[in-house]
Amino acid sequence: ATPMALLVASGRAAQLGIFVKGQRVLEQAEGGAVVVFDKTGTLTDGAPSVVEVSPAQKVTRQEVLRWAAAAESGSAHSVALAVRAAARAEHLDLPDARAVTEFPGLGVLGIADGHRLAVGRPAFLRRRGFAVPAELAAARHAQERLGRTAVFVGAGDRVVGVIAVAERVHPAAARTVAQLHGLGLRTVLLTGDNPFAAQAVADQVGIGHVVAGVLPEDKAEVVAHLQESGKHVTVVGDGINDGPALAAADVGIALGTGADAAIDAADIVLAGRDLSRVPAAIGLAWATLATIR
Ligand code: ADP
Ligand code: MG
Repeated sequence: ATPMALLVASGRAAQLGIFVKGQRVLEQAEGGAVVVFDKTGTLTDGAPSVVEVSPAQKVTRQEVLRWAAAAESGSAHSVALAVRAAARAEHLDLPDARAVTEFPGLGVLGIADGHRLAVGRPAFLRRRGFAVPAELAAARHAQERLGRTAVFVGAGDRVVGVIAVAERVHPAAARTVAQLHGLGLRTVLLTGDNPFAAQAVADQVGIGHVVAGVLPEDKAEVVAHLQESGKHVTVVGDGINDGPALAAADVGIALGTGADAAIDAADIVLAGRDLSRVPAAIGLAWATLATIR
């Protein structure tokens, strides 16, 4: 590669809020080009809101929110932000949580008020040994069918509540997807969230292909699969959970507001959360290549 060509291209790009960090060798792909979007925080607004709290019998919604917010005290995940905002809005006094650990794409664990706490995707709490009361399993499915993200909150040895979170799609998302389609690129929505929430967002932004319920390490596997079928893959993401997929992509694009792990793994970083820069960033990745050759 000619460093000069790279420098000139990156200088021009930086003025557009597109920062080129690294360069990979792009090969012309037989199977065409695909842009894979993460959902939460990438296609959707960074600040979702809690729309429903369903407590178990003999538990109050305040207890559910307090424990959830305490366990989420150290997380930057959008569900954590929504939960903490809801606890703040209700002026809840939060217990200090200790031993707080985040599991990317799954949820968080912690200890507070003498209880083992957990917040996260239902399968995560089940696997961690929290018993699921039937009414909460039903509440979860009802919320998911409404296109919401439903997380379980566990305290002690059982699930004590379901918190439903609703997201709004990013204002530039539909326009950006339409532009990519106009350029002949195909789009995929790849998410760890449930299939209903994923489909609701895909419908709103015009993405036809949805892969939901995917664990972070399996996101990279989906990218590898597309590459094996001869496709050139761009990944756009923001979370720690997107790191492996961004690294596996032919071109990895991280939002500037994203997690450090996403930014580290990406080739291109966009200023702020401006999705509308994605087509230009992809064009740049290819134009830089053309200059070098
Ligand atoms: P996406 O792929 O859409 O960005 P993630 O992989 O970040 O979604 O998360 C997948 C699912 O894991 C979320 O829908 C949520 O159920 C759960 N999850 C991940 N992190 C957290 C957290 N900090 N608190 C609660 N739930 C979480
Ligand atoms: Mg995300």
